Amino acid sequence: MNTPPRKILIVGGGTAGWMAALHFAHSWADRDIDITLIESARIGTVGVGEGTTPLIKEFFDRLGIPESEWMPACNATYKCGISFPDWSTVEGHESYFHPFFSEHDRAHVNHFWDNCNLRREGHDVPTHPDDYFVSTAMVRQHRCPIAREPGVPNAVYGYHFDAALMGRYFKTKAMALGVNFIEDTIGGVNLDEAGDIHSVTTEQHGDIAADFFVDCTGFRGLLIRGALGEEMVSMRDYMFNDSAVAIPTPRADGALSSETVSRALSHGWCWHIPLVSRMGNGYVFSSDYLSPEDAEAEFRAYLGSEAAGAEAIHLKWQPGRLENHWQRNCVAIGLSQGFLEPLEALMINVIQRSIEGFTKSWEAGDFTDKWQARFNEFVNQFVDGIRDYLQLHYKINTRNDTQYWIDNRENPHLSGHLRTILEAWDGKADFDRVLYEHINQQVYPRTSWYCMLAGMGRFPSADKHPLRVSARQQQRAAEASERQAVAFWPHAEYLEKVYAGEV
Ligand SMILES: Cc1cc2nc3c(=O)[nH]c(=O)nc-3n(C[C@H](O)[C@H](O)[C@H](O)COP(=O)(O)OP(=O)(O)OC[C@H]3O[C@@H](n4cnc5c(N)ncnc54)[C@H](O)[C@@H]3O)c2cc1C
Repeated sequence: MNTPPRKILIVGGGTAGWMAALHFAHSWADRDIDITLIESARIGTVGVGEGTTPLIKEFFDRLGIPESEWMPACNATYKCGISFPDWSTVEGHESYFHPFFSEHDRAHVNHFWDNCNLRREGHDVPTHPDDYFVSTAMVRQHRCPIAREPGVPNAVYGYHFDAALMGRYFKTKAMALGVNFIEDTIGGVNLDEAGDIHSVTTEQHGDIAADFFVDCTGFRGLLIRGALGEEMVSMRDYMFNDSAVAIPTPRADGALSSETVSRALSHGWCWHIPLVSRMGNGYVFSSDYLSPEDAEAEFRAYLGSEAAGAEAIHLKWQPGRLENHWQRNCVAIGLSQGFLEPLEALMINVIQRSIEGFTKSWEAGDFTDKWQARFNEFVNQFVDGIRDYLQLHYKINTRNDTQYWIDNRENPHLSGHLRTILEAWDGKADFDRVLYEHINQQVYPRTSWYCMLAGMGRFPSADKHPLRVSARQQQRAAEASERQAVAFWPHAEYLEKVYAGEV
């Protein structure tokens, strides 16, 4: 497509569709572009996707949307990071917390890195990440990342929110910015002679034509795959999980948590996401090893009486991604682009980066397809970087209770990049240098790699003498983190202020 568009049609009104609508309407407010979103109430949305990373805060900030407005509308809570119980059986490493790294951590993170590297050489020094980061102490103390002491900056944070409410909130905002909305179901997609998309055929509104189409139809990929025939690149060899069962439970009274819990179970892992209104829970597993019925039974037994009577939602996907996310006059955003799995809550990052990257590329190419290849390469590199970090969780697990965990550990399908990183950690290489050399393939920063590898206890046996100075540094870091955390608001208390519009 080589003429600037007058009319954009976004197909699909899940998180992806409405985020895209909102971003386009905001970015192109001074251009004469008509933006319409069509969604099918009958088909509905995927209904999950409640954990985020700090990236989403940039989205709200750019659009000037205050927390006091959107958080109460979405039953949202603050998120300091994710804990990972039961992925490792190494003594002392049965659980670890993956924090969002903040300026507050600068004073002690060097000791953590140094100790990890001494431990890699066999010195008996403390390396558990939970001692070194202020976010970890905040979670222990049921605090949120907002500082209450003057002069103390906030920590870095993400959010948890109700996905259905978030969709509705984005819809209201986007429509207020002039996005047109049609509720209808699309039965067909029509191509012109050149092979571009010309229009979609709806059940009640006839054919709707546009210059450019945004495929946000979720796993269906109605336009990009169905009509344009784009193939998925399978990631099944790397990522075994392809199924989930989600079951909400009431949230227990008492202190409000600011962490996602990602606990390993027999054939996968489960998330627990604290919202103001309820707990979001789901079991992610591989259908090669466990049937949906057995997964639901295992998960219900694990959740206990709280889950009695709660409806279970079953979901299924093929782990993978498109090769071309933008093809002809169509860009795919959201689950239509592909999906790996929910670990580390990264899909909304992919959506956000895709929306922003596409907006920039399209503008840079004067709304033609000039920057298309560069955009596709950018998204693929981003998704592949995520895949490597996600796969490492499975690769270094030490569980032997089921074949699922053993097969994940023994899986020979690793990218060259991940293999190099793991070999560097396990061997005598300068780990930081290797990370740096591969920086372009990474989505996650240095601290995250250290936290996972050290958190799960991926070290040789300690046969060299302990270094007392390292133990003292660990103790000081742990005490300092606990002290620093006191400068932040108790989570529930601060949320009350946000919900009351007092901040
Ligand atoms: C188990 C699970 C857990 C997840 N957890 C997280 C998480 O914690 N964090 C995170 O970032 N991401 C997570 N995700 C991903 C997240 O759910 C999605 O990225 C997000 O919800 C966006 O979905 P979507 O808008 O692409 O698709 P959907 O929500 O499925 O929306 C698709 C839209 O297309 C419309 N549509 C489809 N076909 C037609 C048609 N024929 N005519 C008209 N309209 C049509 C539908 O009505 C709907 O409006 C998770 C995903 C799964 C499967």
